[in-house]
Formats: sequence, structure tokens, C-alpha cells
Amino acid sequence: MSSFPMGKKIAVIGSGFSSLSAACYLAKQGYDVTIFEKNSSVGGRARQFQAKGFTFDMGPSWYWMPDVFERFFNDFGVSASDYYILDKLNPAYRVFFKNNESIAIEDSLDKIYNAFEAEEKGSSKKLAKFIATARTNYDIAIKNLVYRPGVSPLELVTKETIMRIGQFFSTISKEVRKEFTNEKLIQILEFPVLFLGAKPSDTPAFYSFMNYADFGLGTWHPRGGMFQAIKAMQTLATSLGVQFKTDAPVSKINVKNGICDSIVVHDKTLPFDATLCGADYHHGESLLPKEYRQYSENYWQNKTFAPSSLLFYVGFDKKLQNINHHNLFFDTDFDAHAAAIYDDPKWPERPLFYANFTSLTDPNTAPEGMENGFFLIPLAPGIEDTEALRDAFFDKIIKRFEEITNQKVKNNIIFKKSFCVKEFISEYNSYKGNAYGMANTLLQTAFLRPKLKSAKVKKLFFTGQLTVPGPGVPPSLISGKLVAGLIEKEFQNN
Ligand SMILES: Cc1cc2nc3c(=O)[nH]c(=O)nc-3n(C[C@H](O)[C@H](O)[C@H](O)COP(=O)(O)OP(=O)(O)OC[C@H]3O[C@@H](n4cnc5c(N)ncnc54)[C@H](O)[C@@H]3O)c2cc1C
Repeated sequence: MSSFPMGKKIAVIGSGFSSLSAACYLAKQGYDVTIFEKNSSVGGRARQFQAKGFTFDMGPSWYWMPDVFERFFNDFGVSASDYYILDKLNPAYRVFFKNNESIAIEDSLDKIYNAFEAEEKGSSKKLAKFIATARTNYDIAIKNLVYRPGVSPLELVTKETIMRIGQFFSTISKEVRKEFTNEKLIQILEFPVLFLGAKPSDTPAFYSFMNYADFGLGTWHPRGGMFQAIKAMQTLATSLGVQFKTDAPVSKINVKNGICDSIVVHDKTLPFDATLCGADYHHGESLLPKEYRQYSENYWQNKTFAPSSLLFYVGFDKKLQNINHHNLFFDTDFDAHAAAIYDDPKWPERPLFYANFTSLTDPNTAPEGMENGFFLIPLAPGIEDTEALRDAFFDKIIKRFEEITNQKVKNNIIFKKSFCVKEFISEYNSYKGNAYGMANTLLQTAFLRPKLKSAKVKKLFFTGQLTVPGPGVPPSLISGKLVAGLIEKEFQNN
């Protein structure tokens, strides 16, 4: 542990994955860290709630890249297994297509090759080649790219990336379609980059490393839900001396002589030596006097944001049939839904949707003999959000769910809660109600993303899914580590 600079006080705004990560690193570096969270519980988009005996993770549910979580815990001399039990899911997930067809993605590359071969003769060989590239990209991304703070374009220039420059200018969509013609296999291979927030046709081919994360590393589930990872980080942070203040919305970030010197919480000015904002970047800057904001409204307007989402947390009073833990309902037109998110924002006529039922593999998350369901429809950020629209879309998807999985469930619903654009804004101060930040397109990658360190205010920093490396839980863990490094550097320099 560095003994420098003991006792310097740092305020962290927000308690999502990125803030918790940064807080742990900063506390380990010797800072006196206090987290201010506007909500009554920690975790941000990854909070959890209980109702009628059901447990619902409110946001993330796919535990991918377990190596990134493990690297985080190892930095503190511990392991994820010191805090929670991880189960590898098999199948990892099931994708439903038109005409009552579905494909299960199982828990090893060999099984996945077989599933591809069964769908299209000769495709397993092509997949093996595709995954070999994806694996190399994963290694390069982890070793050379994602753990860089986005300070300079030179960070991206390595022997390995120069050799693959074409992959930054081609797209996932193009590369997948060069090899595969079967629409179902194409959809499966284009699915992982949806986590990065843009259309596969706007996502650089280099991001095929997400396919390796999917097929090569697998889909895991922390027993008790994704929130176990938040709890683990809170426990770790507390053991390192981090203090938590919940129900503590920060209403102002103060600047004196170009240096961030305090924040305002409940009308009280609290002095700090530095402030790190882990709330949505756009909101964080809105807490500053105008002249100290780096990015204009126009800047944010012109960025490609990850979708917002209509979410339903649903308790069923019986066990459900013909489903898996994770289920993708790709039985409608993907391009039409994508256009309704990115090109011509409107509610999609026939939405694709995703559903998970953690109680299938983790019985403690629902009362005995019952099932918890989480349904998600991706939507354009900033779109009109009314109770009537939510109800209409719930009816649409639950009807399709009943038809596709061949069972009646609507009359078995004993709990239902929705969450959409309005709550993303009111609960997280999310820009336009985005669900998972700013997309990773070519022009929104690495040094082209909003910066971790304010260019206008000394001792003011940002972290989280709107900055580097991007959306998702593993990138948020990395973002926290990167910003802690920059904060240390700034204190060392002055
Ligand atoms: C529905 C959904 C599904 C997802 N699925 C997955 C998945 O399966 N796998 C995956 O890896 N990722 C997934 N993600 C993305 C992942 O959850 C996020 O990338 C990650 O949790 C973001 O963490 P963060 O720290 O950047 O932000 P947040 O979690 O949003 O944390 C920001 C915090 O700041 C607080 N805050 C805001 N304003 C203030 C203020 N003025 N004062 C004090 N506090 C404030 C907020 O309340 C919040 O707690 C999903 C996200 C959503 C929403």
C-alpha cells in the first residue's frame, strides 16, 4: 500500500460498480474515501429488491468475463469466491426464433460447435476460425486496451492493434456475414455486442472479443443474484475504511480557483481534497457552474447512447415450463427493432425481448414452487413513457411468451412492477433515461469517450459507463481502477 498521500479526503458520488471499484482502490492507496449515494441502497443500476418472497436484480443479470471480476478482487488479496459462489450456467442461454424454433447455447465450445453444425452443415469450422480471432482480440483487449485510461490516442497503438487495424474499421455485422448465411446463427453471433450499446453494423469488428467472452468464457451466476457482487464490493470497501452515506444526493460540485474543493449534500457544504463522480457523466457536469463543464448539450445530443429499457419484475405463483435461466426472444424482425431504437426513435411494433428466471437455477430467489421473471425490452433513450404504453407492451410480450413457451402464465402473476425511462431518470439521473451508458462505436472508443479527468477543473474526476472503457459491469470495474490511478497521479504531481 502506498503511504502517499495519507489522509487526503475524497468524495465519491454514487455507489454503482464503478464508484465501488474506485473507492476500494483509493482506500487501498491511503485516501480517506466517502461515498455519497442519492438512493437508500447501494449498487446503482445493479440494486436488488425483495417483494412477496421474490428477489429481483434490478439491472445486470449476465455475469460475463469472470476473469475481470477475479482480477479486481485479486488486487486486494482476495477472491470472488471469498464472498459469493459462482455457478456456470448450462445452457448459458436459449434463443427463440420464428416458427417455434430455438437454439440453446451450452457451456463449452465443443457443445456450441455441435449446435452450429446441427443448424448449418460446415458452420462449426467457420465458428472455430471466428472464435480463434475473437479469442486473440480478447487477449489483446485485456492486455493492451481496456486497462488504458483513454488519455491519449497513442494508447491504442501497439504492434498487435496495428496488425489488426482493419478490424477497427470493419463492423461485427460485416465480419459475421462474410462467414455465415444462416440468419439464426448470424443473430446469435451479433447478440454479444448489443451489450456495448450500438447496432452490430455500427460496432467495430475488433469487438468480436465479446463473442469469446460469450462462448469461450461462459455465462455465470452468483448465487443470490448479481447483487452479491455489489455486496462483496461494499464489504471489501468497508474493510478498507470507505464510509457510505445513503439518501445523500449531491446537489452541487463547488470550484474555487479552478480546483474542486467541496460538494453540497442536503444544503451542507462538505470540503474534500478531490471529488470523483460515478453518477452519469452528463448529470455530474450539470452539478458544476456552467463555465466548468467540458461538454455542451450539443455534444451529448450527438452521441450514440445505449438503449433505455422497459423492465418488468414479475412474480409467478407456479413453476414455468420450457424456459432457461436466460432467454432471448428473437422471433421478430431485429432490424425493425434496431431502427426504432437508433434511426427513427419510436416504440417498436413487434419488440424483441429478453427474459430471465433466476429461480430456475437459484431456488432461493423465489418462494418454493414459484418463479421470478425479469423481462426487458430495449427502447430508444428519451422516448415517451406512459403507463398505458407500458401496459400495452407487457400484454404484447406476455402473449408472445405464452405462445412460444406453450403455457398460460398471465393469470399466475402475483407480483408485477415496471421500470422505464422515467425511473432511469428519477432514480439514477440518467441522461435521457439511458439504461447502460454511451455506446462503444468506433468514434466513441477509448480516448474518444468523455474523459476520466476533468480538463477544466483540477481534482475533479469521473468514472462509470459513460466514460472509459464503456458500458457493462466488467468495464465499470475497470473504469474505477483507471480513475483511481489518475487521481493518485494528480496528487503526486501537486
Ligand atoms: C436493465 C439493465 C441491464 C443490464 N444488464 C447487464 C448485464 O447483464 N451485464 C452487464 O455486465 N452489464 C449490464 N448492464 C450494465 C451495467 O449494469 C452498468 O454498466 C453498470 O452497473 C454501471 O455502473 P456505474 O457505476 O457506471 O453506474 P450506476 O450503477 O448507474 O451508478 C451511478 C450511481 O450514482 C447515483 N447518483 C446519481 N446522481 C447522484 C447524485 N446527484 N448524488 C449521489 N448519487 C447519485 C445513482 O443513484 C447510482 O447509484 C445492465 C444495465 C441495465 C440498466
